[in-house]
Order: sequence, then C-alpha cells, then structure tokens
Amino acid sequence: MSRCPICGKTIKWEDLIEQMLILDNFQELLKDKGAFLSALEDFTFKCPECGEEFYGRNLNLREAEKVFELINEFSGSIDYSNNKVRLKLTNLLALDLMLEEWDKRVKGAR
Ligand SMILES: [Zn+2]
Repeated sequence: MSRCPICGKTIKWEDLIEQMLILDNFQELLKDKGAFLSALEDFTFKCPECGEEFYGRNLNLREAEKVFELINEFSGSIDYSNNKVRLKLTNLLALDLMLEEWDKRVKGAR
C-alpha cells in the first residue's frame, strides 16, 4: 500500500501513475525498469488528500517495481489519449502480494 509521507493517507497507485503521465517520455520509461524507477524516485507527486508534494522515493519502491511489471503485462493498461490508468493497480498489487505471501507459507510449511 502506498501512503502519503506527510499525512499518512493511502494513495492509489493508479492516481500516482496518472500524475506521472505528464512526463513526455513516460512510454519510453516503460521499456526500462531502472529508468522508470529512477524517474519515479525523482518525480514530485502531489497528495490528493492533503495537497502536499513529496518525492517518489518516499513511496514503497518494491511496490513501484510491481506496478512497472503490471503496466507492462497488460496491454492497454493506460489510456494515453485521456491520461487515464485503466488498470486497478492497487487491487492487482494487493492480490499479487497476497499470492506471494501464500506461496511463501506453502513453501515454508514443507
Ligand atoms: Zn497527504
């Protein structure tokens, strides 16, 4: 889950990624995980709750990596003509982390 480092409210990843769509080279960034993550770390996000700005490096970067993978996995995940993220990234991420946890438990039980 991603939270605003200032007010602590949960922010949806789809909202965060939508803010990043203003980058001219966003589609280029999606071809390279390292480039995507470093752009995200240096990006100034604005919290929709408190309106404060913060750098992407305050976000959970492990989740950011998953977000990168999810966007790439599903074609048409972003509607560039309307600057909208179509994927429910936050929900997918939660599901993904849950499966990972489950996988770990199953392996640990053996
Ligand atoms: Zn906030």
